[in-house]
Amino acid sequence: ILVVSGVTKAFGRTSFGWSRKPRKPALQDISLELKPGAITGIVGESGSGKSTIGRIIAGLETACEGEIVIDGTRVDVASRRQPGGMLGRVQMIFQDPAMSLNPRLPIGDTLAESVRFGSAPSTDARLAISVIMDRLGLPMTFLTRYPHQLSGGQKQRVCIARALLAKPRIIVADEPTSALDVSVQAEIVELLGQAVSQEGISMLFISHDLALVQALCSSIYIFQNGSVVDGGSPEFIFGRSTNAYTRCLIDARP
Ligand code: ATP
Ligand code: MG
Repeated sequence: ILVVSGVTKAFGRTSFGWSRKPRKPALQDISLELKPGAITGIVGESGSGKSTIGRIIAGLETACEGEIVIDGTRVDVASRRQPGGMLGRVQMIFQDPAMSLNPRLPIGDTLAESVRFGSAPSTDARLAISVIMDRLGLPMTFLTRYPHQLSGGQKQRVCIARALLAKPRIIVADEPTSALDVSVQAEIVELLGQAVSQEGISMLFISHDLALVQALCSSIYIFQNGSVVDGGSPEFIFGRSTNAYTRCLIDARP
């Protein structure tokens, strides 16, 4: 469904003059693949480039080099005018739901905008919204509320509803439970898993929680300093991989 090959990204202006060394790229030659109807995980330490590759795949950021192919269509990763040009096909769920919802917009308006984005103009927005709200366990009375009138877990469920209503092929979830209370983390993870199995979409699940990724993902990539250093099924990564960095991450977990 999605193939990333050789993506490299450096931030800021790099100087190749003799007095300054070029800045180290945030991503170097990243290649990975998302399979239809599957959850693929990315794990790595802080600063290893997980969010950067997620944003590039979601078309929120450009890359310097490399190629991304979605459903057989090649995307221009370097274009600034319309980064990726695939906004409709990839939706993103962020770590902090409070930051990703417009505080001045009632939930109903946020969701209606997403329906307009993902569906034909003739679509019954109210119906589409009520189906998704029901599935995510959100009462219809929330439609007139503002984000600050919802709990963190409720806000994140609204973000999942918004992503699904845009009818994506892929959802990039960047540490979607890290900002939430432990009591609602499992619930959000379960909803994301259900979305993948029910809607036939693929998910890129970015996390630093090894146990969570092991339980949820059917394949896992290990990031270190902007590179993919290891990858494979959870059975391989946690059982058979001989990669020194992977073993180190697994041994270091509490
Ligand atoms: P975390 O687990 O803390 O979220 P991460 O793996 O998601 O970390 P990224 O946010 O992708 O890491 O950052 C990778 C590198 O790129 C870091 O060194 C970071 O400082 C740098 N970086 C990210 N965004 C920018 C930006 N907009 N401008 C300059 N540098 C950036
Ligand atoms: Mg990050």
